[in-house]
Amino acid sequence: MSTTAVADEEPLAIDAGHSWAHPGSTSATGEPEFMFNSALAQTVSDFLTAHGNSVLRIGHDGKMDNLKKRTAIANQGGAKFFLSLHHDSVQPRYLKDWQWQGVTHQYSDYAAGFSLFVSRKNPYSQASLHCASAIGGLLREKGLHPTPHHAENIQGENREWADKENGVYFYDDLIVLKTAAMPAVLLEAGVIVNKEEELAVQQPERRNTIATAIENGLRNCGIINQK
Ligand SMILES: [Zn+2]
Repeated sequence: MSTTAVADEEPLAIDAGHSWAHPGSTSATGEPEFMFNSALAQTVSDFLTAHGNSVLRIGHDGKMDNLKKRTAIANQGGAKFFLSLHHDSVQPRYLKDWQWQGVTHQYSDYAAGFSLFVSRKNPYSQASLHCASAIGGLLREKGLHPTPHHAENIQGENREWADKENGVYFYDDLIVLKTAAMPAVLLEAGVIVNKEEELAVQQPERRNTIATAIENGLRNCGIINQK
């Protein structure tokens, strides 16, 4: 029996989606998705580390432009789980113009909420789904809700539900999910093209809520050992 928190040997890979050169989607006020992803990835990684977990930080510096290199780092580092953190948008047909600080930006009220993605081409697709459902369930317990807009029958969406109640979709060909040699999940933490949600996802409490749901979810699905 030891009272000292010892970091687990196998790290959790926490991936910040996109990069400064290719920053992903654009928020309602014109900010790059990578800014949101890197901030959340840092909060989640710090939280996991503070709770005795070993963390492998991937792409946090914004210089990672190769999707397969992200999972290669996780695979070589012996990571036991791969989590890619993103923020969401909607299809162009739902975007409208608005003025903010004298500049025209695009926003949408069409969708809000989180979503989770897993691939059936991942070697641990069942474990991936189990963990995504666990994380989604805990986010819902905290009052957050999943967005169904990726299931809409339109070009660019059409995603199949893996666990509708908990906001989990199948996305079999997502590179980081199918090339990970361990269970892997992608989280869209919120829709930043939505004005209200862009503000909400930047609140420290929201980021802490998400970090807590991730840690507890990974414990509930057996990735992090029960204490
Ligand atoms: Zn993204």
